[in-house]
Amino acid sequence: MSGMRVACIGAGPGGLMLALLLRRLGGHEVDVYERSPAGATYGFGVVFSRFSLARLRRAAPDVVAALLDRGARWDDVEVRRDGEEIRSSGHGFAAVERRTLLTALNELAEDAGARLYFNTEADAAELLGRYDVVVAADGSGSRTRTSFAGEFGAEVVPGRGRYAWFGVDRAFGAMTFLFADSEYGPVGAHVYPYGPDRSTFLVELGEQAWQRAGFTEGATKPPGWNDEQAMEFCAEVFAEHLRGAKLLGNGSRWLTFPHITSSRWSSGRLVGLGDAVHTAHFSVGSGTTLALEDAVELARRLSEHGEGDDLDATLAAYEATRRPIVESVQQAAWASLRMWSHPEEHRALDPATLMLRLLTRTGQSAADVLLRLDPQLAKIGDGVTALPEGPVPALVSSDGSAVPGDALLLAPGAQAPAGHDGPLLVAADEQAEERLKGLRAELPNAVLGLLIQAPAPAEEPVARVVDSVVALATAVPLDVVAVAPGPRLPAADRTARSALAERLTAAGMRTAYVCRPNELSQGWTHARSGRADTVWTTEP
Ligand SMILES: Cc1cc2nc3c(=O)[nH]c(=O)nc-3n(C[C@H](O)[C@H](O)[C@H](O)COP(=O)(O)OP(=O)(O)OC[C@H]3O[C@@H](n4cnc5c(N)ncnc54)[C@H](O)[C@@H]3O)c2cc1C
Repeated sequence: MSGMRVACIGAGPGGLMLALLLRRLGGHEVDVYERSPAGATYGFGVVFSRFSLARLRRAAPDVVAALLDRGARWDDVEVRRDGEEIRSSGHGFAAVERRTLLTALNELAEDAGARLYFNTEADAAELLGRYDVVVAADGSGSRTRTSFAGEFGAEVVPGRGRYAWFGVDRAFGAMTFLFADSEYGPVGAHVYPYGPDRSTFLVELGEQAWQRAGFTEGATKPPGWNDEQAMEFCAEVFAEHLRGAKLLGNGSRWLTFPHITSSRWSSGRLVGLGDAVHTAHFSVGSGTTLALEDAVELARRLSEHGEGDDLDATLAAYEATRRPIVESVQQAAWASLRMWSHPEEHRALDPATLMLRLLTRTGQSAADVLLRLDPQLAKIGDGVTALPEGPVPALVSSDGSAVPGDALLLAPGAQAPAGHDGPLLVAADEQAEERLKGLRAELPNAVLGLLIQAPAPAEEPVARVVDSVVALATAVPLDVVAVAPGPRLPAADRTARSALAERLTAAGMRTAYVCRPNELSQGWTHARSGRADTVWTTEP
């Protein structure tokens, strides 16, 4: 359909990419309203993985070319802690300054015929009176999302830890993860280059440490304000890594990262994209990619929208295509965020194990894949291997046949078979405590455990399960807790299983990660990275 009038609120990466592609693909009229002046934005460099660049290249090769020309590229990940430095290669990243990316998108969108209005606060209700379609690309603080709260069904959960986003006037040579101890508690930083003499320097501090330090709440300060006290603290904590380089501020202060989900992304002629309707914690470096990819899909759908077509159906098709991808990244981001907001859980890991934990922190990747990218991983620490060297015990039901060493799940009402030498498990249900007490009285030397399936991959459900297992373990000692595959979609189930095993291990439980035979490397990675004590398979 030609001649649609589209208004876009927000000239962030999502809004600008949409304007550019709508002009190129559909010839629609597009007006973009941005409250800030042209060229003004927060933050420093943003990172892209090689996979996201490949996807974006198909839709807008000139955007990717501009990004690569004006940014930095590198392959390595480095972990530094307690004076040790470990590197892994083959990962493939690019980064560009956020301001540079926006300038490139501005130019391309204007060249394509979009009209950009800076210093202009926009209001969705008012724009709906003047345009055929209004796009909320107004970021995580979206006023549109709050004004149309019922329509979007959004949930905003503030993060638990604090971050401060600085730059530094030196190019680090890798995606560098720094870990240090401060007088208030552990501090972490993600550092990566985005130009010949610039890096992003993002510092994470646990909520308790932030409270102990009595630092300033950044959210209530005006845009552009820099927290000098935060900058001094971070410069001092990471002085040995900065080696004289200077931290830079651009609205840098302590903030919490909001986890935003929306049950619907459109209502009538109003549609949302990017951070306005969903966020993904920055530690997986994907929010900009998601906003850009949303824009690609929405532009495609609107450009194919014909005269007389149902706009609800067009916008629903956009959401149906994007939602599963966004949700899977959000799950990965949640798992990654967990690692950063619970620094105490990995404080005791040696640097090699910590590297493996970091590389697999989303619960989705495994040692076999990492070793293909970087065979040198086999040489760090005790050496990463794709699979365990010895036989892997199976988890079998007491209805089936078991071989020595297998873990046996006792069916409801079943007795422990005579002579079985492997762990005996009961399912985590209301009878679990009573059954475990009975088994303990009958078989004082047996290895007894609980079998549990992972809940939804989110903080509260996982915390509830951990609390209930810890409570049970105080009533009846548990030798092992087995975390088994559940009924959810594989990616969600793996993320939740991973988080549950990790938290149970951190809570002092002996944990077995139970995997399907085709996930054996992933299961082994959990044991090898200290998230579980052992790995079992679901099939002998
Ligand atoms: C610390 C940190 C580090 C990050 N690092 C990365 C990274 O490395 N890689 C990555 O992919 N992502 C990263 N992100 C995420 C990324 O910044 C966001 O996901 C991305 O900017 C979302 O783009 P957007 O277009 O949806 O929204 P935004 O970029 O937030 O743009 C929204 C725009 O709307 C404007 N606006 C808001 N309200 C109005 C209004 N009423 N009228 C007019 N204009 C309005 C705002 O001024 C803003 O310019 C990071 C985020 C943070 C916080």
